[in-house]
Amino acid sequence: MLDKVVIANRGEIALRILRACHALGIKTVAVHSTVDRNLKHVAMADESVCIGPPPSAQSYLDIPAIIAAAEVTDAQAIHPGYGFLSENADFAERVEKSGFIFIGPKADTIRLMGDKVEAIKAMKAAGVPCVPGSGGPLGEDAAENLRIAREIGYPVIIKAAGGGGGRGMRVVRTEGHLHSAITTTQSEAKAAFGNAMVYMEKFLENPRHVEIQVLADGQGNAIHLGERDCSMQRRHQKVVEESPAPGLTAEQRAEIGKVCVEACLRIGYRGAGTFEFLYEDGRFYFIEMNTRIQVEHPVTELVTGIDLVREQLLIAAGNKLSIKQSDVVLRGHAIECRINAEDPDSFMPCPGLIKHFHAAGGPGVRVDSHIYEGYRVPANYDSMIGKLIVHGADRAQAIARMRVALSEMVVDGIKTNIPLQQRIMADVGFQQGGMNIHYLEKRLKEQKERGIDLG
Ligand code: ADP
Repeated sequence: MLDKVVIANRGEIALRILRACHALGIKTVAVHSTVDRNLKHVAMADESVCIGPPPSAQSYLDIPAIIAAAEVTDAQAIHPGYGFLSENADFAERVEKSGFIFIGPKADTIRLMGDKVEAIKAMKAAGVPCVPGSGGPLGEDAAENLRIAREIGYPVIIKAAGGGGGRGMRVVRTEGHLHSAITTTQSEAKAAFGNAMVYMEKFLENPRHVEIQVLADGQGNAIHLGERDCSMQRRHQKVVEESPAPGLTAEQRAEIGKVCVEACLRIGYRGAGTFEFLYEDGRFYFIEMNTRIQVEHPVTELVTGIDLVREQLLIAAGNKLSIKQSDVVLRGHAIECRINAEDPDSFMPCPGLIKHFHAAGGPGVRVDSHIYEGYRVPANYDSMIGKLIVHGADRAQAIARMRVALSEMVVDGIKTNIPLQQRIMADVGFQQGGMNIHYLEKRLKEQKERGIDLG
């Protein structure tokens, strides 16, 4: 087992990692920026190291500072969490070259999945269903690009190979717009990601977002832990996640899960990972793989009873996967609401002092949050201040429990999106389940235009 781990992150995920470490008897080192010295996990960690001023570039993204923190504390491994350096192949490489364990896949795997064109090629070769597309970067030949688009069929989407965070994409509905869309996306991609390479895919009009959680030990063993439906999105940001995906059959789950497991074995995947798919008309289309723990991992934990961060730590310590596919049984239904410090109507971030805080509780309720009364939410980072996750015997019970839990939760002093989450839970479409990725924005727009309430 590992002896001491540096937690190279902040907020709720840093606390989540700390809890998993301590439950395994692993000592922890918190690294934090100056504005974050009052974070809950910093107080709870065995040691802490201030790594710089508030801007992420000078703290949570400062590779030498984080590696130095591991050196001075004599730690063995570094857990990157999500965001920040978690999918930075150079970081993973430098961590390992400095003699520490990177808690995640090999740097080469991260690099492969970070290049979307290469990732899709690798996935196709591994038998993972992908969106019909160019299968490679688009060249200069306008006639050839027109031919590719015709073959795929309009509408198509032009995407940057190095893109991320929902940026660097453009939908083209008619032939006349193709050429200009390609050149504009190329120059935007060059400016934003330093890589002008773009590719083309069929644009799916009404897909759902369904993703498969995997665990692999890099020693020839891999399993899947079912799926999560993350279709409730705003500006490509997930707002609510759930497991299982409404309407997905056990056969469909087993089939797509097996494909992902085989892909993991083929690429020598190590650690926790997620295959993200668009799901339309009963078919899965791979869009990308996340080579890290995800924000929404708790819904999978609640339905499977498996602690994913614990498994990450065990795998990083060199253990073989102790869970077999047949051990993975999905029980009931879990839903997660992301709680953000933001105005529930304008979505503007709303940092500040938390004057009162009451967490929700009761059967099947889990609160993953670092906030407390008297804590000041800094303006420097992501606005998510926690996650409320519930488990029920079925989806209806999970929704009912979430509604009670949301009504119990008190965060005074700053604005949060709790009212928005309450409206989503009360919405008939959400309650029906299986809505597509445009549903939430459509409802928000209707609400704004006509002043009607969701639900
Ligand atoms: P990023 O890495 O920027 O998140 P993704 O490839 O995961 O990029 O795509 C982000 C989002 O863009 C998807 O969740 C989906 O909403 C939309 N999208 C991407 N590709 C397609 C497609 N082929 N058809 C329809 N929507 C798409």
